[in-house]
Amino acid sequence: MTPKRKIKIVQKTGRDNLFECKDNPRTCDFKEKPGNEICMKTVELNLNILDESVLFQIDVIPKMIKLSEIVPLAQELSSKISNIIQEKLFSKGITIPCRKGCSACCSYLVPLSVPEAFYLREKVLAMPEDTRKTALNSFLASARIILKEKPEGLNLLEIDQLSKWYSNLELPCPFLSDNICSIYDIRPIACREYLVTGSEIFCNPAWQADNHKVDLPASVLECLGLLSAEFEQTDIEAIMMPLALPWAEENLDRDMKTWPAPEIVEHLIDIIKKEASKKSYSTIMS
Ligand code: SF4
Repeated sequence: MTPKRKIKIVQKTGRDNLFECKDNPRTCDFKEKPGNEICMKTVELNLNILDESVLFQIDVIPKMIKLSEIVPLAQELSSKISNIIQEKLFSKGITIPCRKGCSACCSYLVPLSVPEAFYLREKVLAMPEDTRKTALNSFLASARIILKEKPEGLNLLEIDQLSKWYSNLELPCPFLSDNICSIYDIRPIACREYLVTGSEIFCNPAWQADNHKVDLPASVLECLGLLSAEFEQTDIEAIMMPLALPWAEENLDRDMKTWPAPEIVEHLIDIIKKEASKKSYSTIMS
């Protein structure tokens, strides 16, 4: 299918740790961008989103980065995919209540990939002191409840079981303040990908058997989890939001290693392509 729309994403990152391209300039993949002194490599992802072929062109800077530095790009990609889905369903008369200011799903389970847990820790540490203290206290209170209430034998890898148990705790997200997400622009990918049709009451995991949860061509969250497991050679891990900060603190040594950014982005895009190809995702849902 020929792409109808092209979407540009530029890796937003500092310009430290740039590496020099040693390839023959004639065969080098990195192209000099007009008005930009840094060479970039464009990585392409063609996705079929509800019967429309969409081409994402991602400009990547040749620098060494940690896996957590890929998070802003993954967040942007997941938001753009979700926005297209919302727009297309809306044009078919299907309502999606998810919007800025809605907090209907903010007391349900928010799983984070490993890079997101490290990214979130950095963002919390960079907050002004008052905000940081409030967030840390809120995390602490939630983590205490989770550890106190967690029943023996709960399988943390069994996501449906975990999700139902968690929603019964009615524990608001530590970042929910006056029913508004206080980190909306940097919210986790799970929050961007969790779309339901109809009304916000269908956010409750109990309704998911009724197909109100919107299917995605591929989950960027799951792909980021796979990427991190492959690069770190670990099992796939998902971290519950309220436990993310202590988890990241305990595992800081894992957030030290760097890889060339193009290698990470290309691999993430390959995983997304592979995951999307496994799905028969094309028709507008009812
Ligand atoms: S991060 Fe924001 S959007 Fe996500 S669950 Fe928390 S308050 Fe809600």
